Amino acid sequence: MTILNFKEIPEAHGNGESGLKDTFELFAEVFFSKLGFKIIEGPSRGADNGKDLIIEESIQGKFDISESKIRWLVSCKHKAHSGNSVRPEDEPNLLERISLHKCSGFIGFYSTLASSGLDALISGLSNTGNLKTKIFNAENIETLLLQSQSGIELIERFFPQSFTQWRAENPEKAKIFKEGEFELNCMVCEKNLITNNSVEGFFYIIKKTSDLGKVVAVKWSCFGDCDKRLNHNNQQQGLMERFDHIDSKATPVTYLLFIMDILRDMHSGSEIYSEDAFDKIKHLICAIYPLVTRNMTTKEAEVLEGELMMRSIG
Ligand SMILES: [Zn+2]
Repeated sequence: MTILNFKEIPEAHGNGESGLKDTFELFAEVFFSKLGFKIIEGPSRGADNGKDLIIEESIQGKFDISESKIRWLVSCKHKAHSGNSVRPEDEPNLLERISLHKCSGFIGFYSTLASSGLDALISGLSNTGNLKTKIFNAENIETLLLQSQSGIELIERFFPQSFTQWRAENPEKAKIFKEGEFELNCMVCEKNLITNNSVEGFFYIIKKTSDLGKVVAVKWSCFGDCDKRLNHNNQQQGLMERFDHIDSKATPVTYLLFIMDILRDMHSGSEIYSEDAFDKIKHLICAIYPLVTRNMTTKEAEVLEGELMMRSIG
């Protein structure tokens, strides 16, 4: 599914696609800089009338630690507003431009697709001219941006509307606790079960088989092997476990229902928690809380600081 709407980046000012420095070129500059390329000549400084960008990539060998550098000519074409593909006539004199700027590679940075003719022309450069080539289009630019936090920041800056829609479907966990506080680590392999704004793994409510009203332990683990290792002794010890996916409790509504169920069972006396089980269920509730809530405002955080002097969370 396409997430980014490239029409959010305005067309070049001046005379459309042949205007001077524009937002799409600026976007390209920041894009390559975030990927670790050195910007040798930015679009504003007039390589090819401000249309092209010259960037340098440093490559370090695994055994030979001396760096080799590749100088790339980047040509930006922003046709998302017309929806047209980039054609060979949009990229005249390719070889001359590359050699004029003393580059050994060419990157087409396009907000639409390259036509099959241009695609063939650019691929030909690597065969005949021994040049490195790469074509970026809306789709592979989007894929790359979504892979890193700095890419997501770029989306927020250049595609604010697309970002808002994407973020609504991919919520970020709130900053509630200090680093390392209420971590949820697998009780077998110690892997952190909360990563990239989501949680995975099982939790187990462990009871006495002879008295199902007694919760003796609450545990959590990864799926698969860790699950088996954590619970393999239960039966011999006269215990049985009820399990559930942790992520099924980590949405705003199911989280609340989860707490309500625990309160109801405690109130009716149908489930009595041991000291340890009670501590663990509190920890679990705290650990997944950032996934279902929002950040504190500065004022709220200040009030909380005062309250926490009198008591502690969890
Ligand atoms: Zn594990």
